[in-house]
Amino acid sequence: MVSRVIPVDPFDLVIFGGTGDLARRKILPGLFRRHCAGQIPDEAAIIGAARTQHSRSEYRSFAAEAIREFANGQPCDEGALAAFLDRLQYVAIDARGTQGWAELAGQVHPDRVRAFYFSVGPALFGDLAERIHLHGMATDDARIVVEKPFGHDLASARALNATLAAHFQEGQIYRIDHYLGKETVQNLMAIRFGNMLFEPLWNSQYVDHIQITVAETVGVGGRGEYYDKAGAMRDMVQNHLMQLLCLIAMEPPAKFDPDAVRDEKLKVIRALDPVEPHHIVRGQYEAQDGAHPSYRDAVGDPRSSTESYIALKTHVSNWRWAGTPIYLRTGKRLVARSSVINVMFKDAPHSIFGQEAGRHANVLSIRLQPNEGITLLVTIKEPGPGGMRLVDVPLDMTFAKALGPEGEDPPDAYERLIMDVIRGNQTLFMRGDEVEAAWAWTDPIIAGWKSRGEVPKPYESGSNGPGDADLLMQRDRRAWRGIKP
Ligand code: NAP
Repeated sequence: MVSRVIPVDPFDLVIFGGTGDLARRKILPGLFRRHCAGQIPDEAAIIGAARTQHSRSEYRSFAAEAIREFANGQPCDEGALAAFLDRLQYVAIDARGTQGWAELAGQVHPDRVRAFYFSVGPALFGDLAERIHLHGMATDDARIVVEKPFGHDLASARALNATLAAHFQEGQIYRIDHYLGKETVQNLMAIRFGNMLFEPLWNSQYVDHIQITVAETVGVGGRGEYYDKAGAMRDMVQNHLMQLLCLIAMEPPAKFDPDAVRDEKLKVIRALDPVEPHHIVRGQYEAQDGAHPSYRDAVGDPRSSTESYIALKTHVSNWRWAGTPIYLRTGKRLVARSSVINVMFKDAPHSIFGQEAGRHANVLSIRLQPNEGITLLVTIKEPGPGGMRLVDVPLDMTFAKALGPEGEDPPDAYERLIMDVIRGNQTLFMRGDEVEAAWAWTDPIIAGWKSRGEVPKPYESGSNGPGDADLLMQRDRRAWRGIKP
């Protein structure tokens, strides 16, 4: 299979926070991979911008180290690396002051697409938007890429939307959720809307329920201060899991264009039922055999009541999904790292094979990480003699192996999304009203557990999470599928 690269016009990309963790691990290595794929034209310029003074050659050394460490799967050809580093500039700039702004304005080309990536703390998003505008860089061809978290609740998200809207049109604002840049997420749309096979079955008549799991093995690490104010609900459910839920549940858009897709996603969020208190389980991980600290030790607050795990049941109240619950769960320090959507089909209405053949139902598993791919469990006869015994076998589509160009990993979510920004394609980015609707659903859930004074249940590190999450399923005569790498 031949890798197809869609060329883009020359552009300027300014990375605010160009020396930060995200730039080092994802943005610079991702750009290098696109450079190696021949997608970045020779004239394009990449400008790192951060508060600390660095010379251009220091910044290039920083980028080279980052690329050597993190450009997964891309053989680091030293010639290609030198050519990539040649594109890099660096400007010391203060998002809240005057330092560096005139220099930056002098470096961006007047007649090009210019993208400003806000890879800094969220408190600086408004300052950056304002100063880009003030220094005459918010031209029609300008666009801004805004990292998460986008707000802390509905009021702060609205305020941030209003601040950005004072300087940029909605069509220039790219709110990034890197889950949407994953190969499988786009394939989910291709599978749903490019085939006749699934869509007729994609409703409450045939789907018993849907499980969306995003499990991590890591703890809060160095993000403790931020995380303890957010928790799993704000950090994961309001954005990543919500986006996955939208793509699974949305109606077919009339066209694969940004507003048509986002209109349909918005309808899903607005159709979500409020979550009943007894349909939510919150957890907090405990220490692990001296190997890892407990959540409370990691965030340095022995009384913290922030959740590092959440499981909940919700419904999309519309004609397609009435009666089909959607279960979401996410947590840190779980047994395996795994992001997967399981669409659990109903049992056949009548088994002609009798009791001993067992109950079998089809499952469509959409794996986002690791090992991106889609598996359909189908029931067949167990091979060999011994009568009619049924077993489930997977029809497997593992994208990296089956569909990727030989010897190449699929593009990382960040590199794909950055090139979408340059091309001006907002399909895989969240619109302002979507983010607000997601907060409007999330806020009362958080307010509810606060007003009831609930504290999260402790769970063992390296486990599946609190036992109450299993009860949530068992009460409905269902079970979570195992969390497997
Ligand atoms: P980080 O490692 O703390 O880096 C912050 C960057 O911002 C540094 O380059 C810093 O430069 C710069 N900076 C700080 N104050 C500044 C100012 N006043 N003016 C100009 N530059 C300033 O943060 P990060 O982890 O890269 O995260 C960046 C953003 O991405 C955050 O919004 C975060 O929530 C989001 N995000 C990060 C990840 C991740 O994996 N890291 C994942 C998802 C989302 P100096 O050191 O010179 O001040």
